[in-house]
Amino acid sequence: EAKGAGRGIARYFSNELQSEKEDRVRLEQDLRSALGAKQFHLVFQPLVAAKTQKLVGFEALIRWNHPKRGLVPPIAFIPVAEEIGLMPEIGAWVIEEACRAAASWPDSVSVSLNVSPKQIVLPNLPNLVSEALGRHRVQGNRIELEVTEGIFLGDNGPTLDVLKRLRALGVGIALDDFGTGYSSIGYLNKAIFHKLKIDGSFVREAGTRPENVAIIQSIVQLAKSFRMSITAEGVETAEDFERMRELGCDTIQGYLFGRPLSYAKANEMVVGLANKRLAS
Ligand code: C2E
Ligand code: MG
Ligand code: MG
Ligand code: MG
Repeated sequence: EAKGAGRGIARYFSNELQSEKEDRVRLEQDLRSALGAKQFHLVFQPLVAAKTQKLVGFEALIRWNHPKRGLVPPIAFIPVAEEIGLMPEIGAWVIEEACRAAASWPDSVSVSLNVSPKQIVLPNLPNLVSEALGRHRVQGNRIELEVTEGIFLGDNGPTLDVLKRLRALGVGIALDDFGTGYSSIGYLNKAIFHKLKIDGSFVREAGTRPENVAIIQSIVQLAKSFRMSITAEGVETAEDFERMRELGCDTIQGYLFGRPLSYAKANEMVVGLANKRLAS
């Protein structure tokens, strides 16, 4: 009898695994057709200067509007897209759309976009970026690519070469989610990164964990000694903002200053600022 029950459980688990596998296969299929079906769009989260609280740019973040599943968050599909080799194609679309947005805004508003480690090893990435900049007549310094420490997991030679060629276009390179990955302090002196982004988890825990303040202090010091600028991500409260400003962060990003916005809403924000300046 116990044996029978065990078999039932085994069957239950294998059914569950089976449907998980089917779900994953469907997700992959849907992902392959998503770009052609125009199911992706970018949202734009404001970045403000710590000193003035003025808008300095936006981070472009991808969204997938799945016809049945609804809005699928990037953490749920980017790893899958990377695994099945779709990231170069999706990434190229992100570059194109980010440049299009930047072209529609004044020079004082920059656009950051995220680049997957799978894209950074592609020798044609700098050409792709250069062509998109040219097509939209956008200066390289209006665009910033955000990469994570994961880019240093493989062979560093090609990665560093691609990063240097991107910098040569005037494009900024930010090291995203800094502090959560593998120790990459050794890579910081390569004159490649112009910015560090302190991960939101550090920022939000700094209020309750004093050791986080010490970590942030040393990250800021490190960045300053390499003449890199510092962004604090995940700033949700006025206290978070005060703390990060006092610790020396240059730019601030987080729900306090705005959630990721549709292009139309982000554009309203930019136009609103321009009009304010004209009126005063
Ligand atoms: P990320 O680049 O570190 O982006 C910041 C994430 O934190 C975004 O989540 C943003 O919505 C969220 N966030 C911003 N402010 C706050 C805050 O105050 N509190 C909290 N709790 N969260 C905040 P999102 O849009 O879900 O993106 C997650 C990750 O997916 C991104 O992390 C990035 O690694 C990846 N991703 C997003 N778009 C793209 C893309 O176009 N290409 C690639 N390769 N990766 C992308
Ligand atoms: Mg980012
Ligand atoms: Mg980040
Ligand atoms: Mg993050």
